[in-house]
Amino acid sequence: MEDCELCGRPTETVYVLNIENVEMRTCAKCAKGKKVIRTESYAEPKKAKMQATSARPRQVSDDDKVLIEDYGFTVRRAREKMHLPIKVLAEMLNEKEHLLVRVEEQKTKPTIELTKKLEKALRIKLTEDAVEESRAYTNKVSESATIGDFVGE
Ligand SMILES: [Zn+2]
Repeated sequence: MEDCELCGRPTETVYVLNIENVEMRTCAKCAKGKKVIRTESYAEPKKAKMQATSARPRQVSDDDKVLIEDYGFTVRRAREKMHLPIKVLAEMLNEKEHLLVRVEEQKTKPTIELTKKLEKALRIKLTEDAVEESRAYTNKVSESATIGDFVGE
């Protein structure tokens, strides 16, 4: 989705117009009768812009959900609790083993899709509310209390 530069309405298909040699990105309605260079479809979600400076290593993973900071440790602990080799988990989720390794090492952030698959398979929660953190916090207290075990080793 992108907002039309002329009327401001969000549009799934962007019409790129040439208006006096200036590119304008508009909706279908505003493009009517104008010179259209090309169209772009937003059926595939655009990658969120990386924030250059962020005090906290968080990334918005959904509209109002953020990945918890210790997502990798949470995945690994839950998986080990279930005595599930990472290879088997990878097969279960139809994902690459090395990707899961990187996620557990917190080197790669899982996609929304993978996050949901991991949450379901391991019965864990990897996201929290971006706006109302207090609500997610109550579910997380016992989790974060044991994180020191991992970091300390
Ligand atoms: Zn428009």
